[in-house]
Amino acid sequence: MRSFGVVIVIIALAIPAYWFAQLAPNRDAEALFSQYLGVTALVAMGLSQLLATRMAVLEPIFGGLDRIYVLHKWLGVGAIVAILLHDTIDADMEALGRQTGLMEFAETLGEISLYGILILGVLTIATWVPYQFWRLTHKFMGAFFVLSALHFIFIGKPFDLGDPLAVYVLAICAVGTLSYLYTLVPFGVLQGRAAYEVASVDKTGDTVAISLKPLRGGISHRAGQFAFVSFVVPGKSEVHPFTISAAPNADKTIRFTAKALGDYTRSLGELAVGMRARVSRAYGHFQSSKRGSCDVWIGAGIGITPFLAWSGRRDLVPRPTHLFYCVQSKSNAVGLDELEAAAAADPNLTLHVVDSTVSGRLTADQISDAIGGVGKGVNAHFCGPTPMRKALKDGLVAKGMRRSAFHYEEFEIRSDLGLRKFSGWLIARGVRRFSKTASS
Ligand SMILES: Cc1cc2nc3c(=O)[nH]c(=O)nc-3n(C[C@H](O)[C@H](O)[C@H](O)COP(=O)(O)OP(=O)(O)OC[C@H]3O[C@@H](n4cnc5c(N)ncnc54)[C@H](O)[C@@H]3O)c2cc1C
Repeated sequence: MRSFGVVIVIIALAIPAYWFAQLAPNRDAEALFSQYLGVTALVAMGLSQLLATRMAVLEPIFGGLDRIYVLHKWLGVGAIVAILLHDTIDADMEALGRQTGLMEFAETLGEISLYGILILGVLTIATWVPYQFWRLTHKFMGAFFVLSALHFIFIGKPFDLGDPLAVYVLAICAVGTLSYLYTLVPFGVLQGRAAYEVASVDKTGDTVAISLKPLRGGISHRAGQFAFVSFVVPGKSEVHPFTISAAPNADKTIRFTAKALGDYTRSLGELAVGMRARVSRAYGHFQSSKRGSCDVWIGAGIGITPFLAWSGRRDLVPRPTHLFYCVQSKSNAVGLDELEAAAAADPNLTLHVVDSTVSGRLTADQISDAIGGVGKGVNAHFCGPTPMRKALKDGLVAKGMRRSAFHYEEFEIRSDLGLRKFSGWLIARGVRRFSKTASS
């Protein structure tokens, strides 16, 4: 995530505090704080709606779309916490002085949006709820945001709608509402989508590589970017993100390499040559490093896809580069021939296949031994499971790599809040305590 974007968000959230501080003298502090929280929640939700639009202008400010979704999630979580506190503190509106004739109506709107947002928020962090069902319900989040904005307009406040504070909040609400309407427009209608045709379908174990050739201009992409694809085939029209697993080329053919993780990805093996597809523009800022003395690329399982694209471009391998391909078995290792050929052709590229059934899981020690020591000039790029990423990052940093030199791509648009891990830790701790007490 770009710090610049995060700073913009922090400033946007902090701005109302300045006007609320001016209102503080002679007003009920509790009621004012409750309204401040309500306003902050609206600003967070408005920005979160904007981030959900996938507009091209957002990536240069906030970073790749995968990180934008992370920011979108945390703004949503922050908004829910602020709304809950706003409601719990239960502001005495009379203490704020100004009443409107629509107070009851405004309060009803507030209650509806509170419960709606809470229910949809719970569905979001309950990652076991099927993705497509969650996605459908999540579309109503914007509707509840609009109700919250109406609640703000009609509720009693210690300032007028023409005051700078209200104008600011209303402007953010307008941006959020327009963004919400924008997200309701079907895939590609406003942002464009390119028509493609399936050129080949190759299966390796539980993975399928689908090459697509453009019917007209095609999309432009940088190696390592991803796109949303939908096939014009009954049962395969859902829109899913996949890394473009081949380097850009002159005829603009692209390739997606998908692992059968669920119903949709399992069904991709049924695609046949000639079937039509629609592809969004390319997203993502997962790029190889411009500086340094040595690059380490780590692709675990299907996380190899960006590196398949990178290894196809010699200009992306300007210095000694070690690609660690972690697989559960070599027979399931998609793209292995291609990577071996790239390494054979490029003296800068060394391929290390780490078969976990033979040599166990990749560790920072193994990486360090293979590259001749980890120092400040080493850059690491990772794509794979989160626990592996955290372990390798900590290990490499402990060996001397700069923390900021570790880059990664998120393969999850919807992720939980780590509650499962946290509850697991709490239970384990409780069990340990209990057995200690019982034995003493
Ligand atoms: C930036 C990015 C790049 C990716 N690149 C690749 C790749 O190169 N190869 C690959 O195999 N996978 C890739 N994925 C993951 C891929 O999108 C999911 O595995 C796929 O959508 C799963 O769909 P499913 O219905 O078969 O599985 P399900 O079992 O329904 O879903 C498995 C998980 O995938 C996610 N998911 C499901 N449907 C969607 C959707 N429509 N949009 C977004 N996420 C969804 C959900 O988090 C869900 O929990 C990438 C994901 C992202 C965000």
